[in-house]
Amino acid sequence: MLHDNIGIGESGHLTFAGQDTVALCEQYGTPLMLLDENRVRGNMSVYVNAMKKHFTGDSHPLLASKALCFKGIYKIAAEEGMFTDIVSAGELYVAKSAGFPMENAFFHGSNKSDAAISMAMDMGLGWFIVDNREELDEINRQAGERGFVQNILLRLTPGIDPHTHAKINTGRVDSKFGTAIETGQAEELIAYALSLNNVALHGFHCHIGSQIFEIEPFCDAADIMLAFMAHIQKTYCVKLKYLNLGGGFGVRYVEDDPVIDYEKNIAEIASHLRAKSAECGIEMPDILMEPGRSIVADAGMTLYTVGSVKTITGYKSYVSIDGGMTDNPRYALYGSRYTVHNADHADREADFVCTIAGCCCESGDLIQEDIAIAKPVRGEHIAVCVTGAYNYAMSSNYNKIPRPPIVMLKDGQSRIAVRRETFADLIAYDAE
Ligand SMILES: *Cc1c(COP(=O)(O)O)cnc(C)c1O
Repeated sequence: MLHDNIGIGESGHLTFAGQDTVALCEQYGTPLMLLDENRVRGNMSVYVNAMKKHFTGDSHPLLASKALCFKGIYKIAAEEGMFTDIVSAGELYVAKSAGFPMENAFFHGSNKSDAAISMAMDMGLGWFIVDNREELDEINRQAGERGFVQNILLRLTPGIDPHTHAKINTGRVDSKFGTAIETGQAEELIAYALSLNNVALHGFHCHIGSQIFEIEPFCDAADIMLAFMAHIQKTYCVKLKYLNLGGGFGVRYVEDDPVIDYEKNIAEIASHLRAKSAECGIEMPDILMEPGRSIVADAGMTLYTVGSVKTITGYKSYVSIDGGMTDNPRYALYGSRYTVHNADHADREADFVCTIAGCCCESGDLIQEDIAIAKPVRGEHIAVCVTGAYNYAMSSNYNKIPRPPIVMLKDGQSRIAVRRETFADLIAYDAE
């Protein structure tokens, strides 16, 4: 199987985290989002331990909240010693409500409103990762008003060549995020930040992209960032403590994706950083990383009930499910690949080529096209693997479809971490 938390039980049913997925469908209904708690914790501890081992003292992984955000995930993250990054006042509110230590939270985002900045400061947020000059001014002003100095990092775009790394587009000079090193604007912003009284600049951030399987793009970005850090430290006689390398480690969605050894990648990036820091004549900075997908993706699985199995003679077959783009818009958005099983007959040969179609009134509402599964009939269940990241987080109520619950699996037990939305929830905001 794709990951070792996916298996086949005695009855031929697909199992996840050692539990029968068909029985879970019967207990909780479908669509159903499962989350393997031990896998989440295991993934977190790989980062926590590897970063402790290979980087300098105050280096930490930050859970990228946007991949999956609900109260329970912050409790687990805090217990596992992860820090977190949030990108909106909403994510901040969820983290705070879960009791996440605010001093370990970093506020990202390319457009922080005055109100969001104020809310974050009132909650005692530790760090802002500043995107642009306007918000730098506002953070400085609000910190001044409150009579304290706000710790910040600046988000910079290292200007990674998109021709060398086709998939890597968030760190490009023309990105909407951050401030460009290449154009001289980053240095201007730094000089300006250093002149302000109510912000303390401690380092830089860059994020180059997502679903990256090799370490070279991270090393290339780090080279640019370290050289720039050395230049700034010498020119302005400042000591910068942190380099935040963002998120982006890839995850195995299908059999032909590579198997990734995160600990080894972190070790290799660390030795690269150490050598490059020495070459630039600076002390190795403490490192922050922001994994999202690689923490939660393979801890997730989504289950659906099959409605119809429609074969258009001479063309193709559709298997209709009771969810779709409302709980997983990633195929519709980017053609993302997934591994799919007939959960009732995971032991049978996957010889029925079909397209898994969602139930929205939208012909693009597909989960996968032309994949092979054991042929299902109405009432059987379809499992889509590795759905922990950017599925629930991106879900919607299009066609007034209630969001599924998140059911956590741990040591043979299951419990509701986020309840299923009800029809009453669907009209809860409507005026009479
Ligand atoms: C999306 C994002 C992440 C997380 O990326 P993954 O690919 O899920 O690891 C981290 N940092 C920033 C700034 C992001 O935009």
